[in-house]
Amino acid sequence: MEPLVAKVIYVVGYWVANFAIRARHIKARQQVRVRANRTTRLDTSLFIIVGAGGFLLPLLYVFTPLLSFANYSIPLWIGLTGVAMLAAGDWVFWKSHKDLGANWSPVLEIREGHTLVTAGIYARIRHPMYLSIWLLVIAQALILPNYLAGFSGLVPFGILYFQRVRKEERMMAQEFGSEYEQYVTRTGRLLPKARS
Ligand code: SAH
Repeated sequence: MEPLVAKVIYVVGYWVANFAIRARHIKARQQVRVRANRTTRLDTSLFIIVGAGGFLLPLLYVFTPLLSFANYSIPLWIGLTGVAMLAAGDWVFWKSHKDLGANWSPVLEIREGHTLVTAGIYARIRHPMYLSIWLLVIAQALILPNYLAGFSGLVPFGILYFQRVRKEERMMAQEFGSEYEQYVTRTGRLLPKARS
């Protein structure tokens, strides 16, 4: 793929789409009262690294020649696979925000009046929003042929995901008890559970 085309697809499909989908949820969240916060310093630091690190290096790559020493070339089909994953990631990102509604939070916490969402995309998958971020950061790696800018989302998000997901499930089980435990039995973490 032409580097310029790849950059435009990445900026529109990742940054613009992310912002367009999330902006009103960030705004709506400001009116929500938090009842229990389980965020650790590690979790918050990783969250900042994913946000800033995964954004700043691509920013340098897209708009300056500073990272060009780390460029490589990739076959077209890999770039196109990335574009398909980007589109899928954007859809799942949008759908999971829509279904989670006011229960969304960038960190681990329970808000006042928190409800357990088990419908929509959450009916089969427990962490569709994390699935969408996996799709987006893998797409970034496939679309940007640069060792630093390409992997700066995937590596920190992978660490964030694996240290967060169990804590999040423990928090949800404490909050919602057997309702959550039953919910776990009929869903998969990132992909729908195979029917037995
Ligand atoms: N892990 C989910 C949600 C990410 S947002 C996903 O990937 O789609 C993180 C917040 O969502 C957590 O603070 C938790 O309070 C809340 N949460 C996670 N699963 C939920 C559910 N099924 N219903 C309601 N809130 C949920």
